[in-house]
Amino acid sequence: MKKVVLAADLGGTNLRIAAVDETGQLLRLVKKPIPSEVSPRNLMEQIGEMAEECCLPEVAAKRSFSAVAFTAPAPVAKDFDGVLTKLPNIPSLVGMNLKAELEKLFDLPVTIENDATAAGIGENWIGASKGIENAICVTLGTGIGGGIIVNGEPIRGKDGIGGEVGHICVEPEGFSCGCGSHGCVEQYASATALVRSARDRGMRIETAKDVYDAFKAGNGMADAVFRSMGRHLGIMLAGLVNALNPEMLVICGGVTQGWDAFASHTEAEIRNRAYAVGAERAKLVRGLLGDNAGIIGAARSAFLSMK
Ligand SMILES: [Zn+2]
Repeated sequence: MKKVVLAADLGGTNLRIAAVDETGQLLRLVKKPIPSEVSPRNLMEQIGEMAEECCLPEVAAKRSFSAVAFTAPAPVAKDFDGVLTKLPNIPSLVGMNLKAELEKLFDLPVTIENDATAAGIGENWIGASKGIENAICVTLGTGIGGGIIVNGEPIRGKDGIGGEVGHICVEPEGFSCGCGSHGCVEQYASATALVRSARDRGMRIETAKDVYDAFKAGNGMADAVFRSMGRHLGIMLAGLVNALNPEMLVICGGVTQGWDAFASHTEAEIRNRAYAVGAERAKLVRGLLGDNAGIIGAARSAFLSMK
C-alpha cells in the first residue's frame, strides 16, 4: 500500500490541508481562512473538520495516513518541542504546543517545519531546484521568508531561525521592521513594501497587483517601484551568493507574478555585487509549486522521518 501523509500549511490567514502521497502529489486539498484571534481549541476543531474532508472515501478506501506534517509561521529548530513562539500574524496561538495537540487529535507521528523552510524543501524535492544540492528559496509575499538547502540539507540553525533571509539588512538607516531591526529587505521587496513604495511616489493604488498593472500599462513610476524592489532583493541575494555559493536562487510567492518587472534588476544587482564565479553559478528562477510548495515540503519532511 502506498504511503500517504496528512500535510498542512498553517499560514497567517489561511489553513490548507491535503492528503499527499510519496511522489509529492496532492490527492485532495482543502483550504479555509483562519479567523483572526483564533484560539488553540478552535484551531484544533477546524483542523479536525478539514482533515475529515481530506479523508473522503476515494482517498481513505485505498490508503490510510501514516503521519501528520505541518508547517508553522514560527521558528522550528531541529529539536523542536512543538511550542509555537514568535507568531506575528497569529499571536493568539503563542505558547500552544501544536505538536502535542496534533498527536492527541490524530494518534499519529507528527512533524513540524517552518513554513518558508518547507517551501524550500518542496521546491527542492519536486519543484524548480529538484535534484540540486545547494539552493536558496526566497518567498516574496506579505513578508519575506527563506528556505536554504546546503549539501542537500535544509538549514534550520540552533534556534530554528536559520534561513530568515527577509531580515537581512539592505538599508542601514532604512524603514523600521516588525522584527525590531530596520532596513530589512522585507521592508523593500515584499508585496507590502511594493504598495508603500508606490504610495510614497504618489501612486493611488491598493495592492501590489495594481502596481504591476500600472507597470504593464507603461507607467514610469511603477517601473521605478519595481526597479528599486528588484535592486534591494539583488543586494540581499548577492550577500547570500557570496556566503553560500548556491547553484540556484528560487523566488516564490505572489510577488513573482511581477517577474518581468523586477527580475532583470535583481540579476544585474547580483552581478554587480557578488563574486563573478558565484553570480555566474547562481541561476535565478521562479518557483514551480506555487502556493503548494510549503505543504509539499512538509510532507517530504514527514516521509524522510519515516525512513
Ligand atoms: Zn526585520
